[in-house]
Amino acid sequence: MISKIKRIDRVVILTGAGISAESGIQTFRASDGLWENHRIEDVATPSAWERDPRLVWEFYQGRRRQLLEVDPNPAHDALVELEQHLDEFLLVTQNVDDLHSRAGSRELIHMHGELRKLRCEECGDVIVAMGEEDLKEEYVACTNCRNERLRPHIVWFHEMPLRMRDIDIAVADCDIFIAIGTSGHVYPAAGLLSVASSCGAHCIGINLDPPQNVGLFDEFHQGKAGEILPGLVSQWIATEDDE
Ligand code: NAD
Ligand code: ZN
Repeated sequence: MISKIKRIDRVVILTGAGISAESGIQTFRASDGLWENHRIEDVATPSAWERDPRLVWEFYQGRRRQLLEVDPNPAHDALVELEQHLDEFLLVTQNVDDLHSRAGSRELIHMHGELRKLRCEECGDVIVAMGEEDLKEEYVACTNCRNERLRPHIVWFHEMPLRMRDIDIAVADCDIFIAIGTSGHVYPAAGLLSVASSCGAHCIGINLDPPQNVGLFDEFHQGKAGEILPGLVSQWIATEDDE
């Protein structure tokens, strides 16, 4: 187990739905493969959007309204504190909620997209940030072309995650890789741990249950992220004088 993280250590964090669970957002395997009572194939695939855009739109509007009722938890805050301690840091999240940015994380990649954004497939993938006035039943139209129905800026199953090249480079180059609240089932995110491990990074896992790739971690902490992470971060970044 490492006891300290130095300012010059390059750290990459990967978070999944588990880090937002204590804020009140359901993970998706927690409910037997259902996400907020929906089958993933019905709401989170490109073919679902083609077949039944109304259902998909309503599902994501529900997820967006939920963001108004939840707040970042101590695990999100601890990652902000860790980032402030380091020269080179990257937080890669599979989450589509906005809790990391609301907590104050800066170097952040949303590899699976963001609930609060839409994009126009007609005019070159223009990305539009949503305001509270957009949280209604109707679709949001593009202001740039005649498209009446912007799509959620979400990476659906069968689509390519965003900024994989930047992520791969950072993971291959890091000294410490920390995965938090992710089941290790969804690829390519799940493969980042083996990349980090084979490139010689010290790999740390924090999860409620041992994830399927638990054997690849150099250290694994079982429990709730909001309870475990703040203590670990204070220990990792404590200066000699504090001890
Ligand atoms: P997952 O739902 O497959 O797994 C979550 C993991 O977190 C589980 O292993 C579980 O044991 C663990 N966990 C639950 N509560 C925890 C806690 N308090 N502390 C630590 N660990 C905890 O999630 P995934 O691996 O992120 O994959 C799900 C996919 O679905 C993602 O790609 C994501 O885009 C999407 N999703 C996003 C959200 C969100 O944005 N908050 C929520 C649900 C699903
Ligand atoms: Zn457009």
